Amino acid sequence: MDDITQGISCNSISDISNICGSCSDTTTTEICANCGKEGGSLKSCAACKLVKYCSRDCQIAHRSKHKKECRKRAAEIHDEKLFKGPPSLKEDCPICFLRLPIHTDGSRYKGCCGKVICSGCIYAVAKRDEDALCPFCRVPTAMTDEEIIERLHKRADADGVLAIHALGIYYSERKNGPLDYDKAMGLWEQAAEIGHDASMTTIGRSYIYGYGVEKDEKKALHYWELAAMGGCSNARYNLGVFEHSAGNIERALRHYMIAVESGHNGSLKQIQELYSEGKATKDDYTKALRAYQKYLGEVKSAQRDEAAAAFEGFKYQA
Ligand SMILES: [Zn+2]
Ligand SMILES: [Zn+2]
Ligand SMILES: [Zn+2]
Ligand SMILES: [Zn+2]
Repeated sequence: MDDITQGISCNSISDISNICGSCSDTTTTEICANCGKEGGSLKSCAACKLVKYCSRDCQIAHRSKHKKECRKRAAEIHDEKLFKGPPSLKEDCPICFLRLPIHTDGSRYKGCCGKVICSGCIYAVAKRDEDALCPFCRVPTAMTDEEIIERLHKRADADGVLAIHALGIYYSERKNGPLDYDKAMGLWEQAAEIGHDASMTTIGRSYIYGYGVEKDEKKALHYWELAAMGGCSNARYNLGVFEHSAGNIERALRHYMIAVESGHNGSLKQIQELYSEGKATKDDYTKALRAYQKYLGEVKSAQRDEAAAAFEGFKYQA
């Protein structure tokens, strides 16, 4: 019962800067874009890096002329980062050493030892023994909510960004008490600050639906972009859906394709749909299918299939 459904953890990311304003990068080789002064210590426009200025005053004076070009280049820089694709988003089950499925039902976070264990390995132990011990640390499974929460708090205090995230999920979904979105958001923000991108994705979702916060699409997109750049395929998919519904098919397709490469089934379905509507090419669809098959080849196992067949909650593909 202490199995809190958990996507696999994601890598940290750095923030994005997109506002033409403050300056950085000193150099002595070029000229000020405003007054033409040469040498000295010129500073680049932080947003676009295309021009340099001798002073803040020159930058301000030049702003109206520079704004359009700056925004264009800043958007390009942003997109280069955004569409770079996922960093390696592969984590293995510590017991069978097979790649963990990205589907949340394909693994469980164990509050006892802080390990993410695959559905197959959990089921293999559970089917032998009703009062299953954790397959990793051999501690009996927590049976009450109090126990579960106590364990998660201990983990969260010790090290575990996954425990902090899981506690947030608990407070936002629990059935045995009032939902506490404020608490959940606080926990996710804490985890997001350490770079946990599933938490960023969850925060984005809260801003879309207005769970415990004012609805704010801009903030949601900001968090999803950060999470997607960190390798979260759910966030990547969400961005795809957003672009898709805005009619930006090319951008949507790019997001879906990156998500499929990480094994995101919903994104494969979207590409299939775009293909059937004539909005994606056969090549796109074939490429997506291949990427998904490759992922499946890495996460499939007889043990996991047996778990999925026995229990709906262990299905690791959508
Ligand atoms: Zn100047
Ligand atoms: Zn600029
Ligand atoms: Zn396993
Ligand atoms: Zn354990």
